[in-house]
Amino acid sequence: MSDSTLPIVQHYINGTASVSASGRTAPVYDPALGIQTKSVVLADEAEVNAAVAAARAAFPAWRDTSVTRRQQVMFRFRELLNERKGDLAEILTSEHGKVVSDALGEITRGLEVVELATGFPHLIKGEFSENVSTGVDVYSTTGPLGVVGIISPFNFPAMVPMWFFPIAIAAGNTVVLKPSEKDPSAANWLAELFTEAGLPDGVFNVLHGDKVSVDGLLNHRDVKAISFVGSTPIAKYIYETAAANGKRVQALGGAKNHMLVLPDADLDLTADAAINAGFGSAGERCMAISVVVAVEPVADELIEKITSRMATLKVGDGRRNCDMGPLVTEAHRDKVASYIDIAIEDGARIVVDGRDIEVDGAADGFWLGPTLIDALPTSSRAYLDEIFGPVLSVVRVASYEEGLALINSGQYGNGTAIFTNDGGAARRFQNEVEVGMIGINVPIPVPVAYYSFGGFKDSSFGDSKAYGMQGFHFFTREKTMTSRWLDPSHGGINLGFPQN
Ligand code: NAD
Repeated sequence: MSDSTLPIVQHYINGTASVSASGRTAPVYDPALGIQTKSVVLADEAEVNAAVAAARAAFPAWRDTSVTRRQQVMFRFRELLNERKGDLAEILTSEHGKVVSDALGEITRGLEVVELATGFPHLIKGEFSENVSTGVDVYSTTGPLGVVGIISPFNFPAMVPMWFFPIAIAAGNTVVLKPSEKDPSAANWLAELFTEAGLPDGVFNVLHGDKVSVDGLLNHRDVKAISFVGSTPIAKYIYETAAANGKRVQALGGAKNHMLVLPDADLDLTADAAINAGFGSAGERCMAISVVVAVEPVADELIEKITSRMATLKVGDGRRNCDMGPLVTEAHRDKVASYIDIAIEDGARIVVDGRDIEVDGAADGFWLGPTLIDALPTSSRAYLDEIFGPVLSVVRVASYEEGLALINSGQYGNGTAIFTNDGGAARRFQNEVEVGMIGINVPIPVPVAYYSFGGFKDSSFGDSKAYGMQGFHFFTREKTMTSRWLDPSHGGINLGFPQN
């Protein structure tokens, strides 16, 4: 098929596909085949304005829709998504490359947030205090902000948007979602499903694009809040620009997650965990483990156990029965692979080189097999940079203290894990490590939906985490009323604060 005959992913505005006139598109690939299968439109300023205008027009009626009705729509969306998640998983695999079982796992984590959002009436209740001063009552209500913008990364095209839009919509906001241009179709699928569930037109809009559309949302006066997830340099830019424009903003950035292995750890369980957390989704997870910090003398034995497990991993097309799929684009694959050369130049030992992998898939797919690096100097860019691929490194340290200091010296603070059988050491680690999400014998400690997700340092900008109660807090604002219903006993002049 030539480019001009490929399907084009359009915007979804006001409850329907909205054909772009911008004249700009980006290619969408099937990473396991290594070929372009679609194009996605890239919005211009007029299209940003159209999406925001649709969301703004829908806002008053959605805000004023009864809690019961809003809850019914949320429940229906949950039911439809659960019924049809297999269709969405296929879309994820065809554009992202992750294996189908992992795509289903991603959807399940998003569904958990939808389920949390169905309980919104309880979670956004106000408070009431009677007779705070004689005859005076104080109470609060929690209402929506208006139009909110969500900008999401390529690695979780369904889950990351679902960290935000179910809560934003349940709370009465209207949404413009700008998904990653690398795997754009899941966003349209979700928005169409929500329309089918009874969501009024204009409440959930999908705007496709690049920096033009992101800047359009950041600078639009009718956009009241921005939720962003992506790499750290862009997260910082989003945070600074949105905040300078007076918007509420949460911007989650990149990561470099360490697993600290103490000498008393069960090394078989630790090796299983390192494999799952290092190579699941081809390492394209912000909570992936990329560095194993082994407290000696365990490094050699642990490397042997990890290496023998790596030999059993089947890499290939995610639609076949494989453990790990390709990387998202050729450029990303090449960038990840370049870090193996950097590690070699810096004196590390390559234990398993993923560039030599045999795959169960098309020759042109964006393949890179699981890679294990030992003795990586902590001055190497392969240690310092977020690689975001199936490259796991081992750094050897002499003590818990040295490992902790290494983790705390890093640029990022998204996730970390400790593997040990010593409860006291785990408790000390939980207290001393400067990281937002901590696993204790759990390698990928992504919080469940009723807690909140977010890291420290360059992994998160802004003071609100995603989902959980912090999510509801982010997407609402409180009004506080002080009321007195007059009767003849009230009267007289008093310039001071009431005393009783
Ligand atoms: P990215 O920063 O390249 O893109 C994220 C979003 O920003 C996309 O929608 C993209 O279109 C947009 N964007 C890209 N360049 C831009 C620019 N110059 N100006 C304005 N907008 C721009 O990230 P990615 O490669 O899609 O995703 C991977 C990154 O996301 C990794 O760094 C990963 O750690 C991070 N991530 C973090 C979390 C978290 O919770 N902290 C979760 C998932 C992914």
